[in-house]
Amino acid sequence: MKLLQPVYDSVLARNPNQPEFHQAVYEVLQTLEPVLEKHPEWIKAGIVDRLVEPERQIMFRVPWIDDQGNVQVNRGFRVQFNSAIGPYKGGLRFHPSVNLSIIKFLGFEQIFKNSLTTLPIGGGKGGSDFDPKGKSDREIMAFCQSFMTELSKHIGADTDVPAGDIGVGGREIGFLYGQYKRLRNEFTGVLTGKGLGWGGSLARTEATGYGLCYFMDNALKAHGKSFEGKTVVISGSGNVAIYACEKATQLGAKVVALSDSNGYIYDPNGIDLAAVKEIKEVKRQRIKVYVDTHKDATYTEGCRGIWTIKCDIALPCATQNEINEESAKILLDNGCWAIGEGANMPSTNEAIALYLQKKIIFAPAKAANAGGVATSALEMCQNSMRYSWTFEEVDAKLKAIMKDIFDSATQAAAEYAGDKDNLVAGANIAGFLKVAKAMYAQGVAY
Ligand code: NDP
Repeated sequence: MKLLQPVYDSVLARNPNQPEFHQAVYEVLQTLEPVLEKHPEWIKAGIVDRLVEPERQIMFRVPWIDDQGNVQVNRGFRVQFNSAIGPYKGGLRFHPSVNLSIIKFLGFEQIFKNSLTTLPIGGGKGGSDFDPKGKSDREIMAFCQSFMTELSKHIGADTDVPAGDIGVGGREIGFLYGQYKRLRNEFTGVLTGKGLGWGGSLARTEATGYGLCYFMDNALKAHGKSFEGKTVVISGSGNVAIYACEKATQLGAKVVALSDSNGYIYDPNGIDLAAVKEIKEVKRQRIKVYVDTHKDATYTEGCRGIWTIKCDIALPCATQNEINEESAKILLDNGCWAIGEGANMPSTNEAIALYLQKKIIFAPAKAANAGGVATSALEMCQNSMRYSWTFEEVDAKLKAIMKDIFDSATQAAAEYAGDKDNLVAGANIAGFLKVAKAMYAQGVAY
């Protein structure tokens, strides 16, 4: 890095103890140099200097009362990163690991991802270090209500529209939306991922996992390949993993593994997804109970071992940095030739360098998992129209959007990186161009 090294140095100096944020910024900046060489006016206008600094960061106390009557205190976050092309948009994550660094890395990535969708949405992200695991429905509701009591002051259908992420699914969105409506006395599309009877969009639940497979399908076809008959390993067993498993199977693949934060299951006969949905979506149990009813399946404690399973295609759909350089080496040595990221930043920068060096088919998260937020934007659109599209209509739009993203990332990669298959550079650059143009046109406040 030459042109942008001073920007990166200032990010490091200004944001100490934020390793995930540093990692996400570095991954983007190292691909943007050829763009800035063609656009010196963007350097003069400080576009990248401004891009790495969130427009607004909100941190707040979230007090709530547990089932024993004790007061609990969590920390809430909302980072409104960039609104150059539309209202801030990005999920809420409830997980004990959540801190400002994680929310900022997610918010930063969201800027480029949202731009890639071609829809008018800016980048933001939020969440809390609250752990929903093991909590009663009443405790979840109490927490969500307290969280929204503060968050409601900062969001709005034309300002900032949060959605779900890890630990935030339909139940949590319901409690959050109910509290927003109570406080504001308005029925607007302030959250996405809503229930189907009260403003939600058909196919939103499936969208990230399906979109990942649609994107991969385009990438595989570009190399004369397909999902048909291929062995696939998917990490996670949450929203993204379940619907990636469903679509990959529909496209002819055999998915042999899934995981949660405790360990992974391997089923040589192919994952029985109906059983997984019952375990995870209905009973909210751990993935290991799958082996109680599937005699050929095995369960192994610990997460990283999942990458030692031989496969053609790997779809990491759990969390950040789940594939490090060592896991990447094992995966590739065992014959894996395509990786599509359903989770956000699931590969370390060292792992990505290896994928690029070995020239495997690699679909980075910003492009490959953009189907979720794209469908959230379609939900916003339906809310504005007070109208809803059928499942087939939304799914067709999602499929077209994922193809568009693949095409624009491929084109940007060819034009600026001289390698149409380098979708890391392609996704970053295609996402950046639209935001940079908008920021430049909108000027700087004197
Ligand atoms: P869920 O909460 O539905 O599922 C998360 C899954 O990942 C669970 O199986 C969980 O296991 C596992 N997991 C979570 N944290 C860890 C960890 N530290 N180590 C190992 N496994 C872990 O979340 P989603 O499926 O919605 O999100 C998964 C990923 O996809 C995230 O990176 C998210 O940011 C990204 N994403 C999600 C979108 C969406 O629309 N939902 C859109 C775009 C990206 P356990 O149950 O044990 O915690």
